[in-house]
Amino acid sequence: MNKNIVIAIDGPSGAGKSTLAKRIANKLGIMYLDTGAMYRAYALKTIRSNIDTLIKEDVEELSDDIKIDIHYENDGSQKVFLDGDDVTSLIRSPEVTKGASDVSAFPKVRLKLVELQRDIAARNSVVMDGRDIGTYVLPNADLKVFLTASVHERAARRLEEMKLSGYDEVTHDSIVADMEYRDKNDSSRTLAPLMKADDAFSVDTTANTPDETFEEVFTLVKKAIGETYA
Ligand code: C5P
Repeated sequence: MNKNIVIAIDGPSGAGKSTLAKRIANKLGIMYLDTGAMYRAYALKTIRSNIDTLIKEDVEELSDDIKIDIHYENDGSQKVFLDGDDVTSLIRSPEVTKGASDVSAFPKVRLKLVELQRDIAARNSVVMDGRDIGTYVLPNADLKVFLTASVHERAARRLEEMKLSGYDEVTHDSIVADMEYRDKNDSSRTLAPLMKADDAFSVDTTANTPDETFEEVFTLVKKAIGETYA
């Protein structure tokens, strides 16, 4: 039997990771795992428990009593369940987005979710996206890609997504501020900060269409895992 294929895609929010990762997974017929959704589910649990997302001890205490499941639908989409509830759309709110950035800085939260992520990769071929997949979660991945884009381009993309999801009150400037807050948190935490792995390929998507990014990265995928899979 062939060994599992493991592809790690990291980078800041709005760089195009999930669009790219989903497309690669789809093309290869393997699983896509959005690790950000897990941090978001953890943040929602914190908010639902009336705990301040910045209070480390209280947030970490929840790690013994949280159940996060990812279910895959036949059409390839994924649903996120928190303690048995489908929270797939709830975790996209601005409040949860900020909370996820806060709780993800706490080591016990990360260790809990990293364990789940590694377990999934041990049992499945997977394209995993996040901030620390290539550096920390799956350092032996077959291919590591670090996606970047200018903060203004990333904010423009996120604004479009949020408007489509009905969040009409958001503005370009509020998203830039939110991204700068999250990038700073992600890059400055002690355990597994947002960072390019030494052996990751860097791809700047600022001027690319999603198709162009996909073509560029899929060439790397073919080189890394061999034409037979592609
Ligand atoms: O990718 P997404 O924006 O959904 O992630 C939500 C938050 O979860 C990010 O702001 C980041 O702080 C955190 N995260 C993380 N490590 C990951 C994935 C996401 O710290 N592997």
